[in-house]
Amino acid sequence: MEVRDFGRVKVMLGKKNGKYPYGNSILIDDDVTALIDPSLMIREFHQELALPRIDMVFNSHYHEDHGVGNSLFPDAPLYMHPLDAPALRSIDVLFDCYGMDAVSTEAWKPIVVEKYFYDTRDHIVEFTDGQVFDFGHTRMRVMHTPGHTGGHCCFLFEEEELLFVADWDLTWFGPVYGDATSDLADSILSLNRIRDSGAKALVSFHEAGICEENRREVVTQYLDIIYDRERQLLEFLAAPRTLDEIVKKRIVYRKDYSNVVWIDAVEKNSMALHLQLLLQDGRVEWDGTRYVRCSS
Ligand SMILES: [Zn+2]
Repeated sequence: MEVRDFGRVKVMLGKKNGKYPYGNSILIDDDVTALIDPSLMIREFHQELALPRIDMVFNSHYHEDHGVGNSLFPDAPLYMHPLDAPALRSIDVLFDCYGMDAVSTEAWKPIVVEKYFYDTRDHIVEFTDGQVFDFGHTRMRVMHTPGHTGGHCCFLFEEEELLFVADWDLTWFGPVYGDATSDLADSILSLNRIRDSGAKALVSFHEAGICEENRREVVTQYLDIIYDRERQLLEFLAAPRTLDEIVKKRIVYRKDYSNVVWIDAVEKNSMALHLQLLLQDGRVEWDGTRYVRCSS
């Protein structure tokens, strides 16, 4: 496993720079030790890694790929934002948060347990936006960055000038807001905060990995994908369309995801958020059956 050190903060890079279902995890190797988002790689390489005893585990949010290694550390308390913590206390709450239909839920539930080692957790400590954790020499500030999920958080290491941006992952795919707890206006605000954070290294959980150059441009391009999706939706709504027709257009999940059971659900959740903003702004109207672009 490739590891990049930023002082006592170590970025543990997953396969293919953390391409899903893998991910890039953070180890804080200080007087107090901590792991942030223990990925599938941590699980697979746990024996060889010779990690120190882990005192604390943090999850940036409730998604299955971010807590694959949680159960390797049963004695370490799990730290999460209060909006996402309930999903790690009950699998039914997790699936309510995903916002999938019944068929997708039935298909996906056993996979989350068997492949992603989902397990409920008794001891979850909830943190707040701006809270600072001191590990001895290393200090870490929580940055609540909702939109992807309601309680999604980034973690800022001010001295190391490193911001772990978790699933604001700066990939070509663009921001993901397909859950029942997602929010589009919050996503835009969160990405603006990340862009203005001043951190010299942005570390994403997936693919982009460690971004040190042209950081403002990289975040701006990523943010622009939201506006590009909106533009495509408005073009499509030149003629009146039902929500089902909009979902079939696949504006967010563009490539062939026909083998993924939950794809309709996440496309629908994402498009519903775009439509909600466009209706609020008066740029789209709803005739009781179909959506259409306003003429002005
Ligand atoms: Zn996620």
